[in-house]
Amino acid sequence: MNAAPQRPSFDARVHAALGNPLLKVAIDRTTGNARSKRAAAMAAWPGFAAARELGRDIKDHVIAHLDHYLVQFERNALASGAQIHWARNGPEACEMVVAICRKAGARSVTRAKSMLGEEIGLPHALEAAGIERVETDLAEHIIQLAGDPPSHIVWPALHKTREQVAELFRAHHHDPGALASVEAMVASARHELRSRFLAADVGISGANFLVADTGAVCTVTNEGNAELTTTPPRVHIVTAGIEKLVPSTAHAMTLLRLLVRSATGAELTQYTTFHCGPKRPGDLDGPTEFHIVLVDGGRTRMLAEGLADMLRCIRCGACLNHCVVYRQIGGHAYGSTYPGPMGSVLTPMLTGLAQSKDLPRACTLNGQCQEVCPVAIPLPTLLRGWRSRLWSSGLESLTVRQGLAVWRFLALHPALYRRVSGWAVRIMSWFARGGWIRRMPLAGGWTRERDLPRPPDRTFIAQYRRRMRRP
Ligand code: SF4
Repeated sequence: MNAAPQRPSFDARVHAALGNPLLKVAIDRTTGNARSKRAAAMAAWPGFAAARELGRDIKDHVIAHLDHYLVQFERNALASGAQIHWARNGPEACEMVVAICRKAGARSVTRAKSMLGEEIGLPHALEAAGIERVETDLAEHIIQLAGDPPSHIVWPALHKTREQVAELFRAHHHDPGALASVEAMVASARHELRSRFLAADVGISGANFLVADTGAVCTVTNEGNAELTTTPPRVHIVTAGIEKLVPSTAHAMTLLRLLVRSATGAELTQYTTFHCGPKRPGDLDGPTEFHIVLVDGGRTRMLAEGLADMLRCIRCGACLNHCVVYRQIGGHAYGSTYPGPMGSVLTPMLTGLAQSKDLPRACTLNGQCQEVCPVAIPLPTLLRGWRSRLWSSGLESLTVRQGLAVWRFLALHPALYRRVSGWAVRIMSWFARGGWIRRMPLAGGWTRERDLPRPPDRTFIAQYRRRMRRP
């Protein structure tokens, strides 16, 4: 039997991303647009700071009373005719979804975009069960055609330029037309997907919010594909993380305002739907079965392990758009379902720290992610927490451990520290050409991708002391 191909290392993935000029164009276009639209939306919203505090408090309250709201949600969802399934982890959730599809005799399912679905590996589970999966979100449709994983939690096909998308549609769509504009590409996708919506036996969606006092599931999209995914088929399955709970519709609307402005800069998404149970007598359409699979998947462990703040995340993607690292390397280099700052906090919890030890280090700790987060998650602090666990669990490389041991020794001997840093500044200057250091022994990792400015002739401490001596 052939061994599974080894996944490239984090460094190799980063180098591949940095060496791809088209990827940079694609990232800059989408994240640049998202940042400016978000900035305009926030500037026009004097109540943002207060709404942010309220959003944080709503999520904190629900997380502190998760047991109460889960039971309330279950009771009300059952009363509306939904069937509730509790999954401890991803594999269990996938088994449940596949079993429901099999029982319904499903050969084809449509799926509206859901990061939880990606997290639990649902696309692969459906394929392994021989069930045809049709992704209906435009960006998910693009990456399904390309065979790529998502690279952003809001714009999964962010890594593709519009020219690459046109090529894909030309190769895969039955009647692509001229594809001369974005509108023409959208029309081609709509034409391609329309018959699939109507032919599907089961529709699978995620949930943006689970409303405890009504048992409703809220989905938001800009394309209306969630409604077309969940209404025509006989069966609708929702997969949702248990942290999606909110006490009431009013609370969902408060968070929705924060979510949409932070994600796209719009005031509201085009489609906001509260799905409440299956089709009732007299309803013209809707599914006859409505299943909700509630997934723990490490969330209760996050509560126990000091990561409760991260359960506030409403998946807006603003921290990715503002992250200086994400904006250079894109999402695939992270090698995880969730990229960027929020992904670097979540992934070690989901996959184990040993599997994702590079992620907490892939951060400059500049704090922009926390500043833009609509529910004020202290992402840099959480990342520092993972770094500290890396150290205490002995997962840091020998080079890092030795480097820090040397630094610690010097820091405990200030006179020696000053002398050594003075030498270091002088030695670095030897390698400068025209004010920049382009290559330097022992610093290849730094200088391979960037030039360092020539350091000043004196260290910071030397300059400070000099200044203090001046009259
Ligand atoms: S961590 Fe905050 S900014 Fe990042 S996706 Fe979650 S809610 Fe949005």
